[in-house]
This record gives sequence, structure tokens and C-alpha cells, in this order.
Amino acid sequence: MEQFAKPGDFCPNQACPDYQKLQTDQSQPNIIKAGKTRQGVQRFQCQTCGKYFVETSGTIFYRKRTPEHEILETLALLAEGNRISSLTRVKGHKEDTILSWLREAARHTEELEEVLMKDYQIKRGQLDGLWAYVGNKGEKKPSGNA
Ligand SMILES: [Zn+2]
Repeated sequence: MEQFAKPGDFCPNQACPDYQKLQTDQSQPNIIKAGKTRQGVQRFQCQTCGKYFVETSGTIFYRKRTPEHEILETLALLAEGNRISSLTRVKGHKEDTILSWLREAARHTEELEEVLMKDYQIKRGQLDGLWAYVGNKGEKKPSGNA
């Protein structure tokens, strides 16, 4: 079923008419390969919406019940210095849930960073802070932030 879709099998852009439509179901494929990132990650482009995405865009969170953009936005807010405790209030997600996203994201930092920097204007230093957060998992109050 859908959850076994491979990277490049579908467009991860929610605004796209071909969002999450598998290539095997398309009469004309809308996803083309578009070179690689500097880190050697395959890049794709959706011919329908014109958006570029990397190999893992939309795949790591694909099976989650929460929409990917919601997860990415939460991670972006974290990177911007918001605390998990305040995000649980604002976004309505459980702290454990957010931490599990973070941990999963930390296993795909390379791809995630590209998406967060490009689509959410997150800066390098903020990303480092985000991953440091995962290093501190279990500690609810990371010190050093005024
Ligand atoms: Zn698209």
C-alpha cells in the first residue's frame, strides 16, 4: 500500500494536484530526477507543481498520522528556540510525540536540514541547536538558553 512508496514515487507537496499520487498510478509520470545535492542525495522535481524535493522528503514522516508540514513546522519552531513544553500547548501535540519526531528527524539530518532551510528559512546555527536538543533528550529544560 501507500506506506511502502519509495522516494521519488510521489510528490510531497500538499498544494500539488498530484500530491502523494504514486507514479505507478499516473498515466504520465510527474516526478523526474533532477541531479543530486552536494551531499549526494538524489533530488527530484515534480513536473506538475515545479517543486524540488530530495530523496527523503515526505517519506520519513509519510506513515505518520500528522501531516508532514505540521511536523516540519513544529521542528522549525523548535529550531527557532521555542521549547517543547510551549509547543505542546500551542500545537496541541504531546511532548513524547514531538520528541519522537525530533529523534526520527535526527536520523535524517542531512535531508531535513535542506528542507527546513529552504522551506522554513531556518538558519544553520538554529539547526545545530535543534539537533543539540535531541542530544539532550530526556532533559526537559536544556540550560544555556536565556
Ligand atoms: Zn507536485
